[in-house]
Amino acid sequence: MEHLTDRGVIRDLMQRYGFQFSKAKGQNFIVNPSVCPRIAQAAGLDAHTGVIEIGAGFGVLTHELALRAGKVVVIEIDQRLLPVLEETLAEHDNVTVLCQDVLQVDLAALIAREFAGMRVVVAANLPYYITSPILMKLLEERLPIESITVMVQKEAAARITAPLPSRQAGALTAAVRYYSEPEMVMQVSRGSFFPAPQVDSSVIRLRLHTDPPVHPKSERAFFHMVRAGFSTRRKTLLNCLCASLELEKGQARALLAAAGLGEQVRAEELSLADFARLADLWADFSSKG
Ligand code: SAM
Repeated sequence: MEHLTDRGVIRDLMQRYGFQFSKAKGQNFIVNPSVCPRIAQAAGLDAHTGVIEIGAGFGVLTHELALRAGKVVVIEIDQRLLPVLEETLAEHDNVTVLCQDVLQVDLAALIAREFAGMRVVVAANLPYYITSPILMKLLEERLPIESITVMVQKEAAARITAPLPSRQAGALTAAVRYYSEPEMVMQVSRGSFFPAPQVDSSVIRLRLHTDPPVHPKSERAFFHMVRAGFSTRRKTLLNCLCASLELEKGQARALLAAAGLGEQVRAEELSLADFARLADLWADFSSKG
């Protein structure tokens, strides 16, 4: 169904299906007609590509994805949307709607079941209240997906695509860089949504690495170190490590010295290689008791 960006069409669907937007579910639907085609384009689709979409809404983005991809599986938590989607996506025979919380879905099994022999990408206008958990799930589960093209809140996009090291960097920045190459695709103003949210948005694309840029001895120790380092933004790394890793000041000083880092250094000044080196040294320190 076309014209899903028309507020009149949306109001008509809302009235006929007795639907009200849920703020708690992050329901701000795209009404700027140029946005969905651009997200679909940025996702790099063709007839051999399977797409996982997260959050269908009324299906405005699903429609553009279905026009270009071999198959779309869209995961939508809100069952009130199912009858609406049956109407709005009726013309597409390559769309499957799953009514589930994306955070509970076994995505590896879904991919094996739905997309055998296809390249797989993710494309979505994410529910912003769970941006980080969704991205971390997509990255950490080591799924056979090539890229993730998603709309997120503008500030989140800046953090996710920030260079490392940089002032804007945080634990999410480091995790994203470990698993992927992030890039900014476009800016989208709040007026492009209905209802309009309080914030502007950006579309970003993460191209997943086949091999991470650093190889810490233990990924667990590496991410523990990243989280510890960024645990308190204004503190020095020395203080963060003492507080989060329960190290004595002397031990934390020795760790920094062994990694070739100064006592005044902050996490935002560290590269992925620095975190990997620190994590390896910390694992050695801990194993020696
Ligand atoms: N794709 C539509 C669009 O762009 O107009 C809707 C995007 S809206 C920002 C986010 C959608 O995600 C909503 O339809 C909401 O119901 C759905 N959603 C929220 N939490 C979810 C979850 N945990 N799992 C799956 N879908 C979710």
